[in-house]
Amino acid sequence: MNQKMQKNKLLYIVTFGCQMNDNDTERMKGLLSKVGYQDTDSPDGADLIILNTCSVRDKAEQKLYSAVGRFKKQKQAKPSLIICIAGCVAEQQGEELIKRIEHLDMVVGTNNVHKLPALIKEFEEQKNRSKNSIVATGFTDKIEGDEYGYLADSSTSMPAKTSASVSIMRGCDNYCSYCIVPYVRGPEVSRSPDDIINEVQSLANSGVREITLVGQNVNSYNPLLTDETDDECSFTSLLKKVAGISKIERIRFVTSHPKDITDELIALFGSEPKLARHLHLPLQSGSDKVLGLMKRGYSVAEYTEKLERIKTLYPDMSITTDIIVGFPGESADDFNATMDILDKINFDNIFSFMYSKRPGTEAESFSNQLPLEIKQERLQRLQAAQKDIAAKKSASLVGTKMPVLIEGRSKNSDDELTGRTSCNRVVNFRASKDSSPIGLEGSVMNVLITDAYANSLKGSLQTERSV
Ligand code: SF4
Repeated sequence: MNQKMQKNKLLYIVTFGCQMNDNDTERMKGLLSKVGYQDTDSPDGADLIILNTCSVRDKAEQKLYSAVGRFKKQKQAKPSLIICIAGCVAEQQGEELIKRIEHLDMVVGTNNVHKLPALIKEFEEQKNRSKNSIVATGFTDKIEGDEYGYLADSSTSMPAKTSASVSIMRGCDNYCSYCIVPYVRGPEVSRSPDDIINEVQSLANSGVREITLVGQNVNSYNPLLTDETDDECSFTSLLKKVAGISKIERIRFVTSHPKDITDELIALFGSEPKLARHLHLPLQSGSDKVLGLMKRGYSVAEYTEKLERIKTLYPDMSITTDIIVGFPGESADDFNATMDILDKINFDNIFSFMYSKRPGTEAESFSNQLPLEIKQERLQRLQAAQKDIAAKKSASLVGTKMPVLIEGRSKNSDDELTGRTSCNRVVNFRASKDSSPIGLEGSVMNVLITDAYANSLKGSLQTERSV
């Protein structure tokens, strides 16, 4: 029987970490679907369990060890079960994981995801020989055309969705002093624009209406020219090409680096209506001293000047950021400077973390590490201040009419549909229990915002479609 037609093996994936891991997980599901694996939401009875790991923060790594321990009983009940650790911890620790975790079969690093089906086949073929594990790690300096795009392959029978992410690059060359990414995802390599556009076009054909272009630092997208006749393609040019695909209604991108946001990109928000009114721009600290220690490559003044310009040009733009508190050497004044920026910018949302040492990074050896209590206290103060700002910002949207891309029925209520605004807020709104979202799903409709909650908005559907 054609292997593609068999769907008799069960795949259970646990994903930790960021949007890059989410994208890799979707890629794994698509790839493995082609060789007979069907996604399941329970580890019981699974034939393959993959833990797609993150090593950016301490907790994610600790969660991995406790999660993999729990799967020992599934392995005992079903000895043919293959357990695989993929992602950043796989890349970083490689063979060491096989030594530490007795019931682990495979370790697949960040640049080897596309080889999963071949590695599983190899593992099954060698099971009866002396070697009973597989470790595939190491970086490549080029992305081959066949490494991505599996989400869009119709032979994978992946369910149609309204929104999808498309990876445009991998790795990072910035080496911020606290960050593990360059060590676990390798040097920055961009995918060819043609491969990206083909993937987006296939997704659009399968019903996707919103694309998020993802990469560790999308603004520095810079594909290798393979032919003298190839045109250079900046990130802004890539966005224009994606916007040229007629069925795509909205385009998002994440993550941006403040030093690489160009005037050309800022102007594009004004001329390209498909570009969502949301910018995630990691600040990390409001102190120049700390930014210097972090090796971020911009000053507070440069960051705020760009944001003020964007906010003046596009007052409806939603701005979100990442902040690390308690970086080694962060004084009370440095932290207060971060609090001041919160007041000044009025972020719609922040993702805030306490600094934690990552092995192998420069900041690991910094001498002036802060005690946990100080870091905790600063994080609490920061989050409490942001909670007030976010509540005021959400409340200010009540009474406005916003275009919402409808994703489907709300998880919380049979009577409601759910969708997202251009500024990336979730909106739930009433729809009859008997009325199918089919027909509305994937369309952009105007919704009058009636209530604001901590993580979502509520509204009522207006009869007219948004243009
Ligand atoms: S830009 Fe800095 S923080 Fe972001 S992935 Fe690269 S090294 Fe890490």
